[in-house]
Amino acid sequence: MDFHLSHEQIALQKTVRDFAAKEIAPLAIEIDRDARFPAETFKKLADMGLLGLLIPKGYGGRGDTVLACCVVSEEIARACASTSMSYLTHSVLFSHNLTCNGSEEQKKKYLPDAAAGKTIGAIAMTEPNAGSDVLSIETSGARDGDDYIINGRKTFITNAPVADVFLVYVRTDKNLGSHGISQFIIEKGRPGFSVGKPFQKMGMRGSPTGELFFENCRVPAKNLVKGENKALGILMGGLDVERTVGGAMAVGLAQAAFERALVYARTRQQFGQLLIMFEMIAEKLANMSMEIEASRLLTYKAATLCDEGVRCSAEASHAKLFASETSVRVACEAVQILGGYGYMKENEVERMMRDAKLGTIGGGTSEIQRLIIAREVVKRSMA
Ligand SMILES: Cc1cc2nc3c(=O)[nH]c(=O)nc-3n(C[C@H](O)[C@H](O)[C@H](O)COP(=O)(O)OP(=O)(O)OC[C@H]3O[C@@H](n4cnc5c(N)ncnc54)[C@H](O)[C@@H]3O)c2cc1C
Repeated sequence: MDFHLSHEQIALQKTVRDFAAKEIAPLAIEIDRDARFPAETFKKLADMGLLGLLIPKGYGGRGDTVLACCVVSEEIARACASTSMSYLTHSVLFSHNLTCNGSEEQKKKYLPDAAAGKTIGAIAMTEPNAGSDVLSIETSGARDGDDYIINGRKTFITNAPVADVFLVYVRTDKNLGSHGISQFIIEKGRPGFSVGKPFQKMGMRGSPTGELFFENCRVPAKNLVKGENKALGILMGGLDVERTVGGAMAVGLAQAAFERALVYARTRQQFGQLLIMFEMIAEKLANMSMEIEASRLLTYKAATLCDEGVRCSAEASHAKLFASETSVRVACEAVQILGGYGYMKENEVERMMRDAKLGTIGGGTSEIQRLIIAREVVKRSMA
């Protein structure tokens, strides 16, 4: 196993790190305070070719690897977790999903604009009564000639207030359970489709989240992705990459909190000594550093398996679960190490603590990741 990034990946990492320090980090406090989506950053990410990182070159993207996407997501999250959350949704949950599953016509129509940042993408599965139990969705799609009539409601949808195009999961057959779900491409502005006001959130406040409402919304059958009742395969096929890149986002956030705590411990004196000289503080920093490195390696391993085309539900869940729980612990410890100063907004670790918590809820909760891992462990033990 090769534990090293390639020269190209290291160069990409440096480019994104420099850009993020200069252009993303300075906005982080303000977009959190005002709950503002940083549209200007998205334009710059598009100019750098990063919005289309996983989109093939033939559709205006870079055609890069999942590992490269992890490297980029980690660097963006290190500067601002909210920005990386909206980035992940646009470039992976929307663009990569459509790259893998869309028809030639759909890819030509939607991917070049997504890569160029002319449109922002979102994905809508969750409903008020279907969260972890996502396959129980009730939003319905009834065939009517060349169209489907869609009725229902989606909630907690990242980018909803700013997105132009959505991948929406809809029940098209009540009798087929998890096999009766379809995915549709639905554009903003279609009659019968409206977006609610942004939610006021605890963290990730620069990444807007909202509700979608469908009232007799007529969508052409040609907007079906892969065909009627094919969404289960789409959903399952995308989870490994989505969870792996979600892990990378958590690694970046944890790294940022760790760096703040380390600098502080090396400069703050109490009882005539630097904090780092107190063993209890040094132990915290040692544990933080170890858990971040373990998270990063789990993420890189899962990304490498994704790039090799290997199904890796357990490895992707290991990465997402361990990295997101690590980022919660690390951000919390960073606040502790900064003491009262850590509790103040200007020092940013309190924002990181609030942002980190989303990682254990969105994209499948920690409890659901443990269920997946347990199921895989049993399956592999019987193989
Ligand atoms: C900021 C934010 C952004 C989001 N973005 C999107 C998005 O872009 N698109 C989208 O479709 N969704 C999105 N979501 C929704 C997210 O994926 C769900 O919140 C998540 O899957 C959990 O669903 P729920 O909130 O309904 O919780 P529930 O499923 O009701 O779970 C509540 C609690 O019960 C636990 N639980 C549930 N089932 C089990 C079980 N079988 N065993 C043990 N414990 C269990 C859960 O782990 C959790 O602790 C977002 C959520 C948030 C908060």
